[in-house]
Amino acid sequence: MHALSDETRATVDVVLDYARRRALYEDVPLDKPLTPRELARLASGSITPAGIGARRAAALFENVLAPACVSTDHPGYLSFIPSAPTKAAIAFDLIVSASAIYGGSWMEGSGAIYAENEVLHWLAREFGLPEGSGGVFVQGGTIGNLSALVAARDAARRRNREAGRADPARWIVVCSREAHSSIASAAAVMDVDVVGVAPDSSGRLHGEPVAQALDEHGDAVFAVVATGGTTNFGIVDDIASVAAVTRERGVWLHIDGAYGLAAMLVEEMRPAFAGVQDADSVIVDPHKWLFAPFDACALIYREPSQALLAHTQKAEYLDTITEKADWNPSDLGVQLTRRARGLPLWYSLATYGTDEYRAAISYGIDLARRIADEIESRDGLSLVRDPQLSVVVFRRDGWTLADYQAWSDHLLDEQLAFVVPSSHAGEPVLRFAIISPLTTYDLLVEILDTLA
Ligand SMILES: *Cc1c(COP(=O)(O)O)cnc(C)c1O
Repeated sequence: MHALSDETRATVDVVLDYARRRALYEDVPLDKPLTPRELARLASGSITPAGIGARRAAALFENVLAPACVSTDHPGYLSFIPSAPTKAAIAFDLIVSASAIYGGSWMEGSGAIYAENEVLHWLAREFGLPEGSGGVFVQGGTIGNLSALVAARDAARRRNREAGRADPARWIVVCSREAHSSIASAAAVMDVDVVGVAPDSSGRLHGEPVAQALDEHGDAVFAVVATGGTTNFGIVDDIASVAAVTRERGVWLHIDGAYGLAAMLVEEMRPAFAGVQDADSVIVDPHKWLFAPFDACALIYREPSQALLAHTQKAEYLDTITEKADWNPSDLGVQLTRRARGLPLWYSLATYGTDEYRAAISYGIDLARRIADEIESRDGLSLVRDPQLSVVVFRRDGWTLADYQAWSDHLLDEQLAFVVPSSHAGEPVLRFAIISPLTTYDLLVEILDTLA
């Protein structure tokens, strides 16, 4: 047997010691970016023929590189969509790495894939999808949306072939003009056109204008995308009315719930998501509001067989895998080699139970409402709209973008919070995206006080 050297053990210990300390920080430092010049001065020269050794490399990371990365799990990180992985999920992510599991094929990763599927099936039931639904954890919402749309177009092509119909000159995906940028990105990759439908004055997409778009573009439309919680505002489309239209016309309905679909785990939020049960595909990102580390998107299909036909890669060197009827996650998305990235969520859910998840999501929704009321009550601040999920958008009367930016920079310099300006209808605004159960009402009030 090959014995491990003391040096190898020490190398692993150095890393695990730091990982343990970082995972158990009670006060996560917010930190901030450095310039390329500053980092070149502080951190260059680490790649050498002889190596600099485990201790020096780890020290360089801990003392220089890590503090140059904003901690997305800081309670004051309120920009974009924050990250708030549970301790269980963070710790288990190390096991996923240590175990060298290939998560692409059942032949190689059956145990891991079984556990991932437990989570996907639980989510599918929560979303009201039927027995037989299934999917895969892919890298993120962007790849999830792309994979779902590729499957949708493939299904439309196959229908045409079976009916002896020609494909349209240009395929079209219909979505709200408020849909996430990743839909346009997927369309560009697929070389299809996007028809953006106007939402109502409150930002919600409805079935009627979708029906008009389908009347106008006919069989060229291979999918309609509805959003279950827009990124900027957390607005949930009127999915039920959109679903009624897609069902009647036999068009694929995809729900982009990367951020917001997690709110369906909260009983009183379910009515807002009526219609999701009719979707052909849905996505939700565990790295957003399901308290898992980067990077994971749960992609679920109503009929996984449709996705298999679209995505299975065929090659002689894969035949032993693809010729079996096994459940191979690689065949359900745009990917081949895959990390079993659903396992941290599986372990965390198994550890804490689903009730804790419902409570943690509910906390974010309540906190958003409470701080929205506080904003409304303050002179000089106004809400841009009532929060529906956990995003609060508001303005400081009279401020320009430069004012917002200077304030934001100061907040980060003080290491109080990371709140970058956003914009709405061409106007600069401020936005709190609340994910972390460690984000408190008092912290948000402290931030508002700096706007006085
Ligand atoms: C974040 C987000 C995406 C993209 O997800 P990534 O994981 O960042 O690729 C897509 N749609 C919506 C609504 C999102 O909020």
